[in-house]
Parts: sequence; structure tokens; C-alpha cells
Amino acid sequence: MTQTMRAVVVEAPGGPEVMYLRNVPIPDMRPTDLLIRVESCGVCFHDVVTRNGVLRRGIKMPVIPGHEVSGVVEKIGPQVFGFKPGDRVTTTQRRHICGHCMYCRSSRETSCNDREFLGDIGLNGGYAEFVAVQQDGVCHIPQGVTFNQAAITSCAIGTELNAVRDVGKVKMGEKVLVTGAGGGLGVHGIQLGKLAGAYVIAVTSSKEKQKIIFENGAHEVLLVERGEDFSGAVKEATGGNGVDVVIDNVGSPTFEATRRSLAMGARWIFVGQVTGDFVKLNPAQLFMRDISIMSAKSTSKKQLQDALDLVARGDIKPIITGEMSLEHASQAHSDVEAGRSTGRIILKPGL
Ligand SMILES: [Zn+2]
Ligand SMILES: [Zn+2]
Repeated sequence: MTQTMRAVVVEAPGGPEVMYLRNVPIPDMRPTDLLIRVESCGVCFHDVVTRNGVLRRGIKMPVIPGHEVSGVVEKIGPQVFGFKPGDRVTTTQRRHICGHCMYCRSSRETSCNDREFLGDIGLNGGYAEFVAVQQDGVCHIPQGVTFNQAAITSCAIGTELNAVRDVGKVKMGEKVLVTGAGGGLGVHGIQLGKLAGAYVIAVTSSKEKQKIIFENGAHEVLLVERGEDFSGAVKEATGGNGVDVVIDNVGSPTFEATRRSLAMGARWIFVGQVTGDFVKLNPAQLFMRDISIMSAKSTSKKQLQDALDLVARGDIKPIITGEMSLEHASQAHSDVEAGRSTGRIILKPGL
């Protein structure tokens, strides 16, 4: 095996143009790591905020971005069990967890204090030919699920599964609002809300995405201008009450409109934040109406396994916009930043 690989490297924060295709060393493996030959890597908004410097916590540049990885096991460390070279695998968003803290021991390893987010630290991330990931963050890909589908199952589907099922506890007949409905997270949030039996209202600012949002199962699609207050339309769609649950993939830009859309006792689950902006909030506006703010930040291994099962059964359909080679990583980021892609763009080192 050659000792170097092609990878997209970000040395310092900046626009999409700061991503360079380089030859770099193949990542070192720890004893519990698998070395994966990358087939597909999803392009996530997280990668954008890592690259542009909006996200600073936990970042150690230079980095190879990318945490939505699928591929084939190339090599295993001496302490790896249950995987062998040649296995088809996909990863959670983490390169490492401690494996024994109270979070790791209770299926909440997304909160492990030792967690390392894949693609945020050093030259080991998914926009490359190889990536090294600890076995605790890796699952086998079920038969019938493609590499592209598997790559986006952890982040774009598993995180929404976390939000809809485990944090939001969405019940049959409840009304659910999905913001950023046409994005990579949103389209899968809609599918999961529908699968849970909810009445799903989707908000998007993109006319072109309206059709695909309906096709993903939304009962109503509210087409609004960026920055427009959509709460009146949500109230109208819910008989004046507002929604029971919000799967919020947008955060600050829609904060006030979303707050005004909530029913008494609503659960507001934050999944995404597309800008670094702060919001104004009077806590009385929440507690006087029994509103809970909650969060779903990533995907546990259990949630990834469950999401893979849903995909394998055809209950959830991963939405992929297109494939690009590593050379086109900057273009992929520009498209994601501009909100041009519906669903996920996949980078393929083999193209
Ligand atoms: Zn992601
Ligand atoms: Zn831990």
C-alpha cells in the first residue's frame, strides 16, 4: 500500500477556495482503529462552519473535513473485534470516544468528554482516500444499502432520528414543524416525522424544492421569503394552535418566527445552526407557555444502526443530490452554503 493519499486539506479558515487537494500521509492508526478506504463522504453544513471558522470549539487545523463516511475496511488495529478487511462499513460522526464514561456506557457517547469529531482535528477526515476511525464509531452496512446511502445515514438521518424519536418523542397525530425542510437534514426529518405518524408542516425558502419536500412526505409546505415571519401560516395550518414539536435545522435566522409557531407545551428541538448569530429571548415567553427547548447534536452508534435498518427496509429513503470528485469539494461547499442542494452532495475519492 502507498503511504500517501489524496485528500482535501484546509489549513486556515476561509471561503470555499481554501480547500486544496494535496498528497498527505495516510492517517496513523490507534490499536482500536479501522483504516477505511473511503467510497463516499457526505458534505454537511458542519464542514462549512469548520472550514469558514464560524465553529471554533474542538477544531485543530490543518484539517481534512468530512465525517459522513462509508467505505471498505482496508486494515484493522490489533484490538479491533467484529470487523475484517473487506467489510463494507459506515461511521458515526466521531473518530474517537473513551468507551467507558457514563455517557459512553448509556448510549449517550455523543456527549463523551473525550470525543473527537471526525474531520475537525488534524489530517484525518472523510474528504480523502483513507480515514482512520475507532471501532466504537463504525457499523456494518446492511445488504442492499449503497455506499452513498450509508454515508449520509449517520448524520443526515441518524441525527434527525435522534431529534424526532429519542429527544422529541413525537407521537402519532402530533403536529410537527420542520425548518430548513429542503436541506440534507430537513428532508429526512420530514420522512421520519411522517413515519412517526405526525402531521408534518415544512418551511422552505426555495420554490424549486417545494416538489421534493412534498415527495418526502410533508402534509403542508410553507414557501416563505428568507427572514419572513411564517408563524401566521403555521397557526393557520394548525387551527390556530401552533405545532407540538419543531425539528429546527436552521436556528437563529428563523428563531422568532419558530417561537411564535409553537403550541402550548411544545418541544422545540435544535438540530442545526446555520449562522453564528445570537438571538433575543425572554424566558417568560417559554415558561409561561410550558415550552421546552431541547437539543439533538449528533448520532449514537445505536441510532446509526436503527437508521441503517430503516434504510435497508425502505422505510426511509436517503436523498442524494449528486456525486462529485474530491477536486470539486469547493463547488460542493458553495452549493451547500447557498442552499442549492436538496438532500446531500456526496464526494467520491474514486471519481
Ligand atoms: Zn454531518
Ligand atoms: Zn466516554
